[in-house]
Amino acid sequence: METIGLIGGMSWHSTATYYRIVNEAVAAARGGHASARIALQSLDFAEVRALQQAGDWDGAVALLVEAGRRCVAAGATTVAICTNLMHKVAPQVEAALDVPLLHIGDAVAAEATRHGWGTLGVLGTRWVMEEPFYAERLAGHGVATVVPGAADRALVDGVIFDELTQGVVRPASRERYVEVVARLAERGAEAVVLACTEIGLLVGPGDSPVPLIDSADVHARELGRVAAGPAARVVAEA
Ligand code: GLU
Repeated sequence: METIGLIGGMSWHSTATYYRIVNEAVAAARGGHASARIALQSLDFAEVRALQQAGDWDGAVALLVEAGRRCVAAGATTVAICTNLMHKVAPQVEAALDVPLLHIGDAVAAEATRHGWGTLGVLGTRWVMEEPFYAERLAGHGVATVVPGAADRALVDGVIFDELTQGVVRPASRERYVEVVARLAERGAEAVVLACTEIGLLVGPGDSPVPLIDSADVHARELGRVAAGPAARVVAEA
């Protein structure tokens, strides 16, 4: 078993999802009462959100590096940032830590590749949809991306911060999201990545006209495999 470090609380609603899935993955791999060794740093999202809105990304790096170091001090041999957006500063965080960072984009790309999907629609915060850091990470694995138009991007970002990161799930927002997914499919998306770790709380596979990749789910399952350790991986794959 390995201890994994989770930099979470962004928001806590999705960190709860990570906690459950990582433990489920370890239990499935090792059986019995096995559960994951987790060093969790759960940040105050109000503080993180204020830094985002101020564009203070250096401040965000400092906060995440401090949290990552606390995970490592608690024994973590792999660390993860439990949000897509904050991977904007993943290179700086990774460089400051002595252990590997398991990047959410790599887990998403691996899932797309497993299914043979070469073009993904992207739903996430405005930085994830508009800046190159996320698309480039996927492109590095040969996965192309298509993002919603301007009005749809504003809608998707608004629902994330006005509702989902505050634990509010509205059926009307689900309908709007499904319409955005359909428009992405019309523009060539073979599947859509829920590139915000809370969107899976709103939209599920049964709602969507195309397959979905839930970034929180694939990231947490990959972390669960690491937590279970190589011996358990061999058993699980046998
Ligand atoms: N959890 C969201 C994401 O995956 C957004 C919250 C945040 O980190 O600001 O991007």
